[in-house]
Parts: sequence; C-alpha cells; structure tokens
Amino acid sequence: MKRIATILAAGVSLFAALALPAQAAPDVSLARFECGTPQAPTAVNQRFSDTYAYGELKLQFVYSCYLVKHGDDYLLWDTGHAMTMPNVADHTGQIASFPKATLLIGTREWDAISAPEPAQGVNFKPFESWLKGDSAVDALPLGLDKDVFGDGTVIVLRTPGHTPGHSSLLVKLSQMGPVILSGDAVHFRENYDSEGVPAFNYDRAQTVASIQRIKQISSNLKATLIIQHDARDVGKLPEFPAFAK
Ligand SMILES: [Zn+2]
Repeated sequence: MKRIATILAAGVSLFAALALPAQAAPDVSLARFECGTPQAPTAVNQRFSDTYAYGELKLQFVYSCYLVKHGDDYLLWDTGHAMTMPNVADHTGQIASFPKATLLIGTREWDAISAPEPAQGVNFKPFESWLKGDSAVDALPLGLDKDVFGDGTVIVLRTPGHTPGHSSLLVKLSQMGPVILSGDAVHFRENYDSEGVPAFNYDRAQTVASIQRIKQISSNLKATLIIQHDARDVGKLPEFPAFAK
C-alpha cells in the first residue's frame, strides 16, 4: 500500500511514522515543485536582517515544494503558498489538499495550532483534518532529529530559530549525494553566507547555531544545500516529473 507522508518546512512538518523491517534500503529519489512566486523582488534589508546587512539588495523569492519517493512511500516536504489570496500561509498553504497524510510537526508548533484559542497569526484553519482527529499527527520533540524511514536515508534535521521547532530535511541520494532542504533556516544565499538573522525570527542564537550546523553537515557530507526561497538555488533539483536519484 502506498502511503503519503507530508512534511512542511519552517517548523511545521507532516510525516508518517513508518516502521520498516530490516532490509536493503529502497531507492530514494527527490523532485521539486513550483509552489508559487511572490509578485515583486523583495528588498531584503528591511525584514531579513537585524544588522542592516544587505544594503539595497533586492531578491526574487520563490516558494518551492519537494517530493521524496522512498520505495513505495512518499514524503511531501512543504506545501508551498496558498492557492487563493488573501490566505498567505507560507509552507502550509496547500496542506488541506492532503488530509489523509500523517502530519509530522514540531511539538511547539502543534501546540500553537491546536491550542483552544490559537494566538493571533497562527494559521490553524488548514489543519482542520488533523485538529478534528481524522488524520494522524506525529509531534516531534524539541532537539531530536527524526530518521523518517528508519534507514538513515531521510532525516528531519532540527534547526530551530526561525520558529521554536523549525526543521530542515536531509535526503541521501545514491547518485546526486546528500541534499539538504533548508526550510526557513535561511532564506537566501547572502543570508546563509553571512549567518544573517531575519528580524522576525523566534530566537537569534538558535538561528545562528542552526545555520552553522547546516554548514558543518554540508561540509562533512559534501551535501548540496537547496535554499528553498532563493530563485537562484532551487534549480539544483529537477522539477517534477523528473526526479534526482
Ligand atoms: Zn518561508
């Protein structure tokens, strides 16, 4: 039976807890989807640096989603931007399209979404299927990585700072090698290179530590980093229906 597991970046992650018997790891492949493009380039100095680091730099942000195929199982990382305005949910925008998926999500994020009276700005409505208990939720404790399929090929990296339980994803491909999907741990290349912190992040120190962790993992594993919001970066992966292997 094929199961769909969904993961959302930016700390809001969907996932299926799959217990596989000990056996050779299935083939793993990874594809990218176009999941929306904001209309205008963004002046990143205004909101994306708390140290006024980027001067007049303007960048075209994009929204991108990713499908991991692991044997007969699927993991969707990120559901992109909402299809309709004014719903502007980034990363969780199209989550309601996958009501049968198991939701893998940081504990703190799920607590915020499932609170009796969610705080202002918490976009809980697309999570109705999981809030009603119709679909499964697997809440990730803080600080622990998650080996999604139990064979080391797909790992949720805990990279807090943007949100309390923010996650990135490590996918180990046999031909392309390891790939890291950033989530919102970083938003663009200059942000990554300078270890810059957006003014709206949850925790500055955690953000810097998470960027440094990604840099170290990338270096140690010789991984390819995909900065999901950077139009210059997402083309490192082929667009569906093509898959990187
Ligand atoms: Zn984002």
